[in-house]
Amino acid sequence: MSLPTDKDKLWTWHNRNGFRRIINVSGTMTGLGASVTGQTVRDAMCEATRHFVGIHELQARASRTIAGLTGAEAGFLTASAGAGITLAVAGAMTGFDPARAEALPVTPGPKSEVVVQLGHLCGYGAPIETAIALSGATPRAVGQSTLTMDHQLIGALGERTAAALYVVSHHVVHYGQIPFPRFAAICREAGVPVIVDAASEYDLKGFIAAGADIAIYSAHKFLSGPTGGIVAGRKDLVRAAYLQNISIGRGMKIGKESIAGAIAAMEDWMNRDHEAARARETETLESWRAAIADIPGIGAQIVADPTGNPLSRLQVNVDPAKAGTTAAAFARAFSEQDPALIVRDHEVELGYFQLDPCNLLPGQSAIVIDTLREVLRSGDTICERESDLARARNGGVGGYLAWLEDK
Ligand SMILES: *Cc1c(COP(=O)(O)O)cnc(C)c1O
Repeated sequence: MSLPTDKDKLWTWHNRNGFRRIINVSGTMTGLGASVTGQTVRDAMCEATRHFVGIHELQARASRTIAGLTGAEAGFLTASAGAGITLAVAGAMTGFDPARAEALPVTPGPKSEVVVQLGHLCGYGAPIETAIALSGATPRAVGQSTLTMDHQLIGALGERTAAALYVVSHHVVHYGQIPFPRFAAICREAGVPVIVDAASEYDLKGFIAAGADIAIYSAHKFLSGPTGGIVAGRKDLVRAAYLQNISIGRGMKIGKESIAGAIAAMEDWMNRDHEAARARETETLESWRAAIADIPGIGAQIVADPTGNPLSRLQVNVDPAKAGTTAAAFARAFSEQDPALIVRDHEVELGYFQLDPCNLLPGQSAIVIDTLREVLRSGDTICERESDLARARNGGVGGYLAWLEDK
């Protein structure tokens, strides 16, 4: 396989530091560095590092951009979407009272429950309950894992409820959940603010328009910004969440360079030619599908994103009897190539992996094709290990344990 040379700078940084060369076809993963930024974002970040600026002024500037992007009244930036959840919940508990903000998380006060459907209590690399609990609030799950009925939500909202959280993600259960407009209407009726975790969603206006009081997005996912979290919504709740920076928000601080970069990323997004990007991605997926169509035991189809994002992926189904090994073993074998091809393996126990084109860099598609063909044709030589499934299932935990082990 011919590796690209460093004249296109694809691997200069990796080579200089001895980092493993990676092609990311799994999506916007924290463990891989989430996304890459465009030139305008890099310039904005670089410029910001050269100056002092009133941080509230900079955040107020971000608020205007967030308002334009989401249709919300106001917004601010924090360290991550996970931090945004914690701060939004905290703000719903304390309002504008600095003493109450300082009392978190030890003394959350009497109104400290966050109601969430059981099927929405997901993990995104960390349990979402933890993001709630870090504020001092108590998550209160309603319904059963695959079914929540209106009366169960209605019954849980009361004197003690600080907020209700709605999670939009491929990680949540996709049936039996209360649809968002209904969820928002029930909460509005009870006077309970609704926080939406839409960290990975392209729809930046829909949740606010459909009744969300706060919507939270990651700056570093599809927006291709620096690492950050966007908190958008009702002005009073946004201000109350922002106040938490005097206390629990301190360790969730975002710097001026990331605020500047996130503003640039949001502006880029508004001017981006989304249809052209989609067409390019579709063309890439088609070329990958065609490239592996003749390989025994391999069947591939283009599948839609489960939450309706305008993004498709190539799902590669593996028949181990004909392909020589399992989807999980293939996923591991791809990660052992140079460059390592990191595929989307969340559901690999079901006999497939997926390829996500959204983080592909120029020049990488041809390497993906070569690697796919080479590895998928050598299934007979790839022994399935017991650890293959466990590795995929146990996510990144092993990496957090082993990162300083001698190689
Ligand atoms: C990625 C993700 C998060 C966490 O986002 P960070 O910005 O990385 O903290 C939270 N919720 C959902 C649904 C996500 O997809």
